[in-house]
Amino acid sequence: MKRKLFSQFMINYLMIFLLTLLVTLLAFVLLSFASSLISGSLAKSRYPASAIIKEDYSQIDASDVVQSGGGVQVVDKEYRVVSSHGLDTIGKDKLTVEEFTTFLIESKSKPYHYDILYQPQGEFWLIVTFPTSMRLDFSLVHNKEAITGDLMRAGSVITVVVLIYLLMLAFFAYIYSKITAASITVPLQKLRDGTMLLREGDYSARVDLRLKNEFAELQDTFNDMAARIEHEISLRRKSEEDRRRLILDISHDLKNPMSSIQGYVELLLEKSGMTKQERSEYLEIIHNNSKRANRLLTELFELSQIDSPEFSLKTAKTDICEFIRQICAELVPLLEREGFQYGFDICEENVFVLLDADRFGRILQNLAVNALQYNPPGTLVAVSLTVQNSQAVIDFSDNGIGIPDHLRDNIFKPFVRSDDSRNSKTGGSGLGLSIAKKIAEAHGGDLLLLPDRKKGSAFRITVPTV
Ligand code: ADP
Repeated sequence: MKRKLFSQFMINYLMIFLLTLLVTLLAFVLLSFASSLISGSLAKSRYPASAIIKEDYSQIDASDVVQSGGGVQVVDKEYRVVSSHGLDTIGKDKLTVEEFTTFLIESKSKPYHYDILYQPQGEFWLIVTFPTSMRLDFSLVHNKEAITGDLMRAGSVITVVVLIYLLMLAFFAYIYSKITAASITVPLQKLRDGTMLLREGDYSARVDLRLKNEFAELQDTFNDMAARIEHEISLRRKSEEDRRRLILDISHDLKNPMSSIQGYVELLLEKSGMTKQERSEYLEIIHNNSKRANRLLTELFELSQIDSPEFSLKTAKTDICEFIRQICAELVPLLEREGFQYGFDICEENVFVLLDADRFGRILQNLAVNALQYNPPGTLVAVSLTVQNSQAVIDFSDNGIGIPDHLRDNIFKPFVRSDDSRNSKTGGSGLGLSIAKKIAEAHGGDLLLLPDRKKGSAFRITVPTV
């Protein structure tokens, strides 16, 4: 890539240099053409020395020249300026031979046009001077009368100069192309390296060009894209890991009750002379295990239902205070039967929220069942309802054993539970809180575990009011 861009630049610059050269030559041709067009109309051409010269210099009429901004001087054979009209560039009355020679030699390079004519009869020089409006001196002079040796020498010098000129042209075009190509190829190279790293799976690859031009915008877009890909990939990995863990957990949790059922059914089928009591004990175990498997499958079904895109709540505008009061009332006999203490603090106003009563009731039911299941009799269960920042806030707490610190961050993930022995009869599925949180979120609210409780655990449900 680098070589291609570099040679492209080189060709472009050489073309530009050569075109510039061509255009410059063309400009000179045009200038000399224009100059020949206007030369007749310039003052110097209208009043040449030959047009006004007379044998007797005192007869010379300089008025037209002076009126046109020029000057007329007459220098005699003694190099004295014997007559002067208008513009005077000699500035002296008397010249030495050297001064007059220098004047004649240097007259070409001065910003004046001199027309000098010698009058042999009168023995004087007539000098007609006009200020040069503008002049461009460039000419290639060639005389066929020159000797061949001179022509060869001059020709070879000119050829060498032209060759050196072209070489320098090529050299500078080369250097300049290298520099300018590098300003493109270096950032491109870095961007390409970054892209290749991404392609090879290094999603942490970022590009730092230290530039402020369009490449910097490209760099920002690249880095942004890489960050997004990295984020997406990490999310995908995490969800893949979650899915893998979920399948593992489901198969573990189903394996125990299913193998137990299978084992006891085989025993019932094969064992002869079984007492009635033994038989009913086995059936009881089979019944419990099938209930456990059934509960697990029901909860899994519920979880995947809530997760599916088709899931929607059947909401109705409901007074949540009244709703919670009813649930608490239903809880009281259960709490009393299990020997739990309780306290309810529900605000008296009407607080309306959009509620799917069946699903939302499931959240409170789960929290209540957990409080009863994991805490000893005598534990205090408290429910309160307040309104904060347009949210109905329901706090469900107990002063029981609390949630172990190591589980707090993940308690709402499926299959997370403090008693992880899958054989445990008391252990739940670990799905209840995940389902409850998803239901709260589907209501536009949330279910949280409140931090830093000295004793027991406290959950907070929030739902936006309407
Ligand atoms: P499970 O079906 O196991 O009850 P949950 O998701 O409802 O599943 O609960 C997850 C775990 O959180 C439970 O296994 C239990 O260890 C713990 N837990 C939940 N609520 C309480 C509580 N009020 N007191 C103590 N531990 C609790």
